[in-house]
Amino acid sequence: MNTETQTDLLKYDRKHIWHPYTSMLDPLPAYPVVSAKGVRLTLEDGRELIDGMSSWWAAIHGYNHPELNKAAKQQIEAMSHIMFGGLTHPPAVELASLLLKLTPEPLQKVFFSDSGSVSVEVAIKMALQYCYSQGLRKKDKLLTIRSGYNGDTFGAMAVCDPVTGMHKIFRGILPLHYFAEAPRCRYDDKWNDKYIENFRDLINAHHDEIAAVILEPVVQGAGGMRIYSPQYLRYVRALCDEYDVLLILDEIATGFGRTGTMFACEQAGISPDIMCVGKALTNGYLSLAATLTTSNVSDAISSGDPGVFMHGPTFMANPLACSIASASIQLLLSSPWQERIRRIEKQLKNELSSCAGLPQVADVRVLGAIGVVELNQPVDIAAAQKQFVEKGVWIRPFGNLIYIMPPYIIEEKDLRQLTSAITEVVGC
Ligand SMILES: *Cc1c(COP(=O)(O)O)cnc(C)c1O
Repeated sequence: MNTETQTDLLKYDRKHIWHPYTSMLDPLPAYPVVSAKGVRLTLEDGRELIDGMSSWWAAIHGYNHPELNKAAKQQIEAMSHIMFGGLTHPPAVELASLLLKLTPEPLQKVFFSDSGSVSVEVAIKMALQYCYSQGLRKKDKLLTIRSGYNGDTFGAMAVCDPVTGMHKIFRGILPLHYFAEAPRCRYDDKWNDKYIENFRDLINAHHDEIAAVILEPVVQGAGGMRIYSPQYLRYVRALCDEYDVLLILDEIATGFGRTGTMFACEQAGISPDIMCVGKALTNGYLSLAATLTTSNVSDAISSGDPGVFMHGPTFMANPLACSIASASIQLLLSSPWQERIRRIEKQLKNELSSCAGLPQVADVRVLGAIGVVELNQPVDIAAAQKQFVEKGVWIRPFGNLIYIMPPYIIEEKDLRQLTSAITEVVGC
């Protein structure tokens, strides 16, 4: 594309297209990308950027992968989409069986949907219908932890952190739920019972109104990139059992290896009653998510009133997305992913450690293929982004956070370019 068309494109974009969480009055510049391959995004002007974001946790195998392209092309030749009401197809069955093999054993039923937020809506609805069908009509609240992020739709937003989720704007529309303080125990902290006190007090006081606990296991993503001890989750599971409350784990960001185990809940050795997966499910090729649950939950819903689960998205179990998802999971399983994540974790720890202890840095934390530098001040996003692009990397900070979660296939040298860019921009 010549420069004139490029300028036109950017002008049009700026004037008419809303980007995530942006103003239309003075939007931050958006960089035009024309292609992507491996860990590199190619800008319209020919510059290449090493991707530190995996397109928001999705592109774990990198971009333009021959195996995934092949799966997509083969499925297009057969069928791209058919409705899922009254019909089924091999891609859905294959993907469901793969998911059930990989996830904790008690999870036996799969509900497909088209995005992470919708899979969370589905999870919440399952929990509410589970209680309703057993005559527990008072149980219509959720309990979660602060600093969480579970999606942008109303049901999901109602369990996001009330401050960063801007609940005050939507007061009166959002259902009110219970919020425990965010886990204070860091990943490696020695356990102290006071870490669970606030959560225990809330579930103890309100369990007869609470249908489910919902949270992100071990790593809280967009709500603050916090990493907490798996021990906390063990207590949450035990308290849910004690008080007869369902446990929903949102593994949309953590799923498919990101934290070093296939799912983050494995680190606590626990299993949820309902689990949401999305993001890396199709390696970012298409939007697809799933909500998994136990036979206990599905039996209760199915034998109660109205006897069916009240949800059914138009693009449910889209065959194209399911085929790519199965290919992506197979690719993950046939790769040395644990070794790759361990290597990335080690390198992130080594190369980001120079930032720790500096006056402008509040914290440095690393788990699996996730590296976070938290500053004491909000990052000037436009300025930092520009600096990163000039250094040949794609890193998008938010709030006080500069963080990366690169594709698992990233090589040592490319990862070093990402971490060097961070240390240079932060001034470590
Ligand atoms: C991204 C995310 C969601 C929402 O997924 P969308 O596909 O953006 O709707 C929900 N929960 C967590 C933990 C996420 O990271």
